[in-house]
Amino acid sequence: MQAVSPAGAMEILLTPQDRIQSLLALSEGIRAARGSSGEISLCSIINAKSGDCTEDCSFCAQSSFSSSPHKSYPMMDVCRILSAREKAFEHGAGHFSIVTSGRSPTEEDLTCICEMISSGKGEKPFWCASLGILTLRQLRLLKNAGLRRYHHNLETGRTYFPEVCTTHTWQERADTVRMAKAAGLEVCSGGIIGLGESLPQRVNMAFELRELQVDSIALNFLIPLEGTKFTTRKENISPVDMLKTVIMFGMVCPDSELRICAGRGMLAEYEKEIFRAGVTGIMTGDLLTISGSGFQEDIELLAAAGRVRAE
Ligand code: SF4
Repeated sequence: MQAVSPAGAMEILLTPQDRIQSLLALSEGIRAARGSSGEISLCSIINAKSGDCTEDCSFCAQSSFSSSPHKSYPMMDVCRILSAREKAFEHGAGHFSIVTSGRSPTEEDLTCICEMISSGKGEKPFWCASLGILTLRQLRLLKNAGLRRYHHNLETGRTYFPEVCTTHTWQERADTVRMAKAAGLEVCSGGIIGLGESLPQRVNMAFELRELQVDSIALNFLIPLEGTKFTTRKENISPVDMLKTVIMFGMVCPDSELRICAGRGMLAEYEKEIFRAGVTGIMTGDLLTISGSGFQEDIELLAAAGRVRAE
């Protein structure tokens, strides 16, 4: 089965609300025909270094351009990070990601992260890292230390990116994704829906991710945060629009895992439909600067949707 074309992707986004059930059935059928197990993987993150970022990403409370009350802190103590990883393991997370604020890590922080990853090399949950824009050398250091997966979002469609961030370019982000793959790492990449991008720009992001052959797509729906440029939504994305967006990404990139990170709660009563829409993974626990869903809540969500957690 061929993945959809850009025109087909637009059609999905423009599907009338009363046809959402047939669209969900179609999406579900496509995943089943491709041999999807229907199991859902969980991942968890820790914000290991927060705030004071030189970049001006308009959605982010950690940018020094924002007036967010969010607390900044330097690199966390290793024991604290390892204990959060242990907790993620107890909760069944398959991946645990260490996330740091900033354009790129300092060499000192990178060395510390590599040492930490080496200490739990090959053990579950697999290490993932989200450390910003890196060089091929830095990505190889992480790979050699035992990193399984690198996370780095494109954030939005290529042509809309300058509206979201001016201190670095979309190309720099895409280059980091390419280099992570070249370093032999799995890549998780995606972005934020609802930043004010047009539907074609949203479709563009999906096709860029397909072209980059990312292993996993991380979809977030904008949660407007106090002090950021996006304190209010530029558009109101309904739960049905959110579902259609998920379906579109799943159909454009059928070979990638599809996970939902921030904003899942805004789906309200449609939340359990995300799995029929093509979602193969969810982030559980706290997000970067705000609380997320609880593990127990997520297990109940899987049960209500008739899904099981991937081991
Ligand atoms: S998204 Fe990352 S790079 Fe952008 S402002 Fe936030 S911490 Fe900095």
